[in-house]
Amino acid sequence: MRSYEKSRGKLTEARQVLAGGVASTLRGSMKPTPLYAESASGVIVKDMDGNQYIDYLLAYGPLILGHAHAGFNEKVSRAMAKGITYGLQHDGEIELARRLTELLPCADKVALSGSGTEAVMLALRLSRAFTGKRKIVRFHGHYHGWSDSIFTSFPSPDMMQTATSAEVDNVPPGTKGQSELSLRDVILLPWNDPEKLESTLRAHAGDIAAVISEPVMCNSGCIMPHPGYLEKMRELTRELNIVFILDEVITGFRLSPGGAHDRFGIMPDLVTVGKALGGGIALSAVGGRKDILGLIDSEQVSHLGTLNGNGVAMAAGMAVLDHLTENGGAVFGKMEHTAIRLANGIRDLFGKHGISGVVNQIGPVFHMMFIREAAVTHFDTFQKRDAAKYAKFAELMLDEGVLVRPNGLWYISAVHEPEHIEATLTAIDLVFFRLK
Ligand code: PLP
Repeated sequence: MRSYEKSRGKLTEARQVLAGGVASTLRGSMKPTPLYAESASGVIVKDMDGNQYIDYLLAYGPLILGHAHAGFNEKVSRAMAKGITYGLQHDGEIELARRLTELLPCADKVALSGSGTEAVMLALRLSRAFTGKRKIVRFHGHYHGWSDSIFTSFPSPDMMQTATSAEVDNVPPGTKGQSELSLRDVILLPWNDPEKLESTLRAHAGDIAAVISEPVMCNSGCIMPHPGYLEKMRELTRELNIVFILDEVITGFRLSPGGAHDRFGIMPDLVTVGKALGGGIALSAVGGRKDILGLIDSEQVSHLGTLNGNGVAMAAGMAVLDHLTENGGAVFGKMEHTAIRLANGIRDLFGKHGISGVVNQIGPVFHMMFIREAAVTHFDTFQKRDAAKYAKFAELMLDEGVLVRPNGLWYISAVHEPEHIEATLTAIDLVFFRLK
């Protein structure tokens, strides 16, 4: 058994001065204790107790190039030496904006910000301004950041009753302290349910400004859109003068160089990207139609942020995109291949140990869950998984030197190699013996 004493001690120390003891609420759930990192390189993280891990948390998604990537660090350091941020304009902004418009099929123009939450806030504001309407349709099990106007329905036990219902006037807040009024304009629907989507959009079209959806439900089970579902969303929103936003904060620059909408051939009006784009530096963007982004040109819509467009973030974005697109984007094939090998290996181990489980994988991201159902294609099925068993699994994996997110979502980076995957499968095999 490994020791986590220094991490435990640090958490106690942190709690005296740092609200919650962790910098983002979600991180507090790690068992046996939230880990304190000492350093990291490639896919290996070291904690303060001297333990090493193969990392599939990847800082909740941004580290698509792994930790301390030499080329990335060099480009970012060079930018830093020229002055971190100016509050003035500079070439780096134009360079990154142009690159984003080249890569993201739906983006005539982009607006830059620092987090996925902010990008979503801007996309919603643009949609309301563009349509002159108020309501936003979002889906159970999706996550679009923690701002008051959209934060609800992230998987929690009390959402069990409502997983398949359409909530038009009664959307529950995601946290204490959130005004219920802030969700007054949110309509919450089950995802992958084209009939409920169509009937709701038709009934409330005069009030609905936008439909926002993850293209793949990465935040709850990596569930794929059913064939034709996103297409239907696209057709209905176009017909009913509703802005269609794809939230690609996870899938952007991960499922393909142009994200999920490029891979699936779906053209949203607006797209939000973040996480992988910054490679670990705070960076996000909204891309989309020039008539919608044009509301910022004409100063009808305000878009603000002291650090927007800072030189370090621009260099980080360019470093990530340069790396991901070199050799014709070959790294996407490598990451997908690596993910498939690992996902298949886990399925084989489920079989070997007689454990009921599902792995939903697309590109370099997958969700692993312990569940009796043979397939997980809807949020209400996902809610039947044994989350406590998975949390125990994640804890035991730490003992075997593998760092995974306690909720089941795994990320593969450009620098996960076959030996990491084989070592990980060996660790899972050992942990499955202990889980029974
Ligand atoms: N949108 C999606 C799909 C996300 O998964 C997340 C974060 O996990 C966000 C938005 C919010 O991004 P951030 O944490 O950078 O604010």
